[in-house]
Amino acid sequence: MLTDKHVVIIGGDARQLEIIRKLSTLDAKISLVGFEQLDDGFIGASKQMIDEVEWHTADAILLPISGMNLEGEIDTIFSNETLKLTTEQLKQTPEHCVIYSGISNNCLDEITQTSKRKLVKLMERDDVAIYNSIPTAEGAVMMAIQHTDITIHGANVAILGLGRVGMSVARTFDALGANVKVGARESHNLARITEMGMKPFHTSDIIEEMRNVDLCINTIPAPIVSANVLSEMPMHALVIDLASKPGGTDFRYAEKRGIKALLAPGLPGIVAPKTAGQILAKVLATLLKEQQGQRGGV
Ligand code: NAP
Repeated sequence: MLTDKHVVIIGGDARQLEIIRKLSTLDAKISLVGFEQLDDGFIGASKQMIDEVEWHTADAILLPISGMNLEGEIDTIFSNETLKLTTEQLKQTPEHCVIYSGISNNCLDEITQTSKRKLVKLMERDDVAIYNSIPTAEGAVMMAIQHTDITIHGANVAILGLGRVGMSVARTFDALGANVKVGARESHNLARITEMGMKPFHTSDIIEEMRNVDLCINTIPAPIVSANVLSEMPMHALVIDLASKPGGTDFRYAEKRGIKALLAPGLPGIVAPKTAGQILAKVLATLLKEQQGQRGGV
């Protein structure tokens, strides 16, 4: 349980509701900042303005997945207020207070470093990335169905990258009956692709390997689907680029050649916001309990 633990939740989207629900069940004391338009009531949670927060009792501060912008402003879909977290506010928190965010930027790095508070970037954690790869793979299936006129079953599908997302996407398309080949550069990854029953290829051979694909799903956050690659692909092929912005595809050239190429960011929040929220809630609850354990709590 997180009894007497004070968590300040600032801004966010639908995913935050699952986190609030979970922390409320665990008996935490929750300050909700930027949630005026939220109708649901949660036991142990109170809506506050940012200047009403009792920072000196905060054990943890939770920011949205996006963290904050470079001016320190925090997004919320539940309020019209501009929310801003400052070094002065963080300095009022106890030394053990931890700031949790999906990702960070220079501004968040700077205010946490200046106030000497620990920052945890949830999206960089392996467990979160692996859990998140499940709705991401389902989102890739959704996009493939929406943007092609053939079945996935029997289609020639090339997955680029065998990281956390690539592995789940490859398994999912393989299970749907596609002819899956996976491009990677490390020999241990090529061996793993073979073990998974799919065809491996080295990314240095990508041009040749793309000549017969119906669908290419990129998970490599580097310019891999270049103009040279696109120029050899069949005209009917679809590229779904899952890598974070700007993706790994030369979209300008794809458009010029008439190949459909789609950048598809944030699929978990689009196809399964509830699950995406539950993933974060579960990991966050574990981290808060660990934080409590380290301070001698139960
Ligand atoms: P990851 O585990 O780090 O995997 C990335 C893979 O790319 C690794 O296998 C890596 O291979 C490979 N790679 C990187 N640079 C390469 C290069 N120059 N040439 C060949 N291979 C290269 O990352 P992930 O968690 O799978 O995430 C992949 C991307 O998807 C990220 O950009 C992430 O932000 C994004 N993402 C998108 C969504 C969405 O909804 N669209 C959801 C989750 C994540 P090595 O092992 O050889 O380095």
